[in-house]
Amino acid sequence: MSPSVPPSKGAPAHPASEAGRRALFPAATDAEWSDWRWHQRHAVRNLAQLEKYVPLTPDERAGVQETSSLFRIGISPYYLSLIDRDHPLCPIRMQSIPVRAEARIRPGELADPLGEDKTRPEEAIVHKYPDRVLFLALDTCSVYCRHCTRRRITKGGEAELSKEQMRRGIEYIRRHPEVRDVLISGGDPFLLSEERLEELLAPLYDIPHVEMVRIGTRVPVCLPMRVTDSLARLLRRYAPLYVVTHFNHPKEVTPEAREACERLVDHGVPVENQAVLMRRLNSDARIIKELSHSLLRIRVRPYYLHQMDVAEGCEHLRTPISKGMEILQQLRGHTTGLAVPHLAVDLPGGGGKVTLQPDYVLERGEQKTVFRNYKGERYDYPEPEETDCSCPYDSVWQQKRWG
Ligand SMILES: *Cc1c(COP(=O)(O)O)cnc(C)c1O
Ligand code: SF4
Repeated sequence: MSPSVPPSKGAPAHPASEAGRRALFPAATDAEWSDWRWHQRHAVRNLAQLEKYVPLTPDERAGVQETSSLFRIGISPYYLSLIDRDHPLCPIRMQSIPVRAEARIRPGELADPLGEDKTRPEEAIVHKYPDRVLFLALDTCSVYCRHCTRRRITKGGEAELSKEQMRRGIEYIRRHPEVRDVLISGGDPFLLSEERLEELLAPLYDIPHVEMVRIGTRVPVCLPMRVTDSLARLLRRYAPLYVVTHFNHPKEVTPEAREACERLVDHGVPVENQAVLMRRLNSDARIIKELSHSLLRIRVRPYYLHQMDVAEGCEHLRTPISKGMEILQQLRGHTTGLAVPHLAVDLPGGGGKVTLQPDYVLERGEQKTVFRNYKGERYDYPEPEETDCSCPYDSVWQQKRWG
């Protein structure tokens, strides 16, 4: 990776992967290590390969065997280099190596937990909310996350999207003028070649009613060397384009990840983060707070904290709903507002996302509303006498705006 990005204040100087790389991939040259395609070619994809690098616990070994027909394994050398080989509860390890619990499908768990397939008018399109669509661009990832909600797709059952399916997806958006926001996901869109990515972004950019594009990717976390200057420049040409990434633990916010995120931001591509709350991995206010602070230091904005979906084989990672609320309560008021993500539950079966927050209202009245603040103290908010909230100028503004 070229050292072209000046580090933000306090950024660590040494690559986090250094010790792991020396121990696990001593033969890799610097050129290989900084080449994302080398990492793709050398990703660990089965038990025999994994056992060469990590002393597995019996639970993990059985987990790899028992989930082999359910969901694939894939761990980039970079992500593997961050694993704590001594601790099975290392968050990198928990996210990339299966345990036996993953092979058990519990009552209420769904193959399609968000009911996406019933709002899928084209292979590539999930159209659940009126004004925005999800564009499923491919089914491959740099690391296969053990908590993946879209494993029915990423397990590889679906063939890679053909050019024809991609064209049909774009046509669908062209025919639906209500769609103003396109979220490209998969799989991981940053595993596409720049040529392929541009074949998708350019036609979307040309559709007048598409106001913005978001790309959901775990590449800054699991394969940061993929974020080259050339990729960042490409993305900037299609502004407004937001990158939405997926850091779940501060251990993932390495110098390499920093460089990837700051490279995007420096090129004018904003980066947001969606984390998933996972039991015994990050289900603790201290960890979420450190994650948020680490992200803000590399100019990534915490966006959602997701309650774990009811995807098959994920129950062991799910937290009670109350845990997320408790964590949020320990953040709001106690730290930078920008560091407090929205706590979202994507309703099982396709209801869409709802957000939760601790209830700060103690009493609701016509004269006043009574609140408790973040310290638990009572405060009154006097209600105004006039309650007409219509905005008469708005019709004037709308006329002027549209000419
Ligand atoms: C989450 C999601 C979106 C985007 O939701 P935002 O709240 O706008 O970030 C769009 N489509 C689908 C199907 C989703 O699951
Ligand atoms: S990167 Fe995203 S789509 Fe891919 S396995 Fe992880 S959570 Fe699933």
